[in-house]
Amino acid sequence: MSTPIPGSCLCGSVKFEVTPPFTAFRYCHCTRCQKASGSAHAANAFLPITQFKWLAGESLVKRFDLPGAKRFAVAFCTQCGTRVPHKVNTTENMLIPAGLLDGDPGARPDSSIFWKSSAPWYVSPQELKRHDEYGG
Ligand SMILES: [Zn+2]
Ligand SMILES: [Zn+2]
Repeated sequence: MSTPIPGSCLCGSVKFEVTPPFTAFRYCHCTRCQKASGSAHAANAFLPITQFKWLAGESLVKRFDLPGAKRFAVAFCTQCGTRVPHKVNTTENMLIPAGLLDGDPGARPDSSIFWKSSAPWYVSPQELKRHDEYGG
């Protein structure tokens, strides 16, 4: 059994832990993920619900199931608005927004899905100037 990796929302009220291995880890560029993340793509890791545990703040989590969607949903901390894990409706997996993890999950994303829907303004980070903090 691997070591559990802790995760938390921005305000710290919602805490959980996940125990690898993950069943999938990928960037999703679909238009729904663009909206829900406010960014170019989501970074979603998945693992069986049996490898997931809430540690704090579960009662602060609100879930929104997109009407008409088979499985698209978002869950978020009602204090700070951070997206938090949720169970995927069509599987026994939890979706873990990878940015919430407070440790290195070990796994790395292996694909970008819904690439055809990717934002017209998306530029690969490899092509961008890098600054350790705010750029000049
Ligand atoms: Zn929060
Ligand atoms: Zn998506």
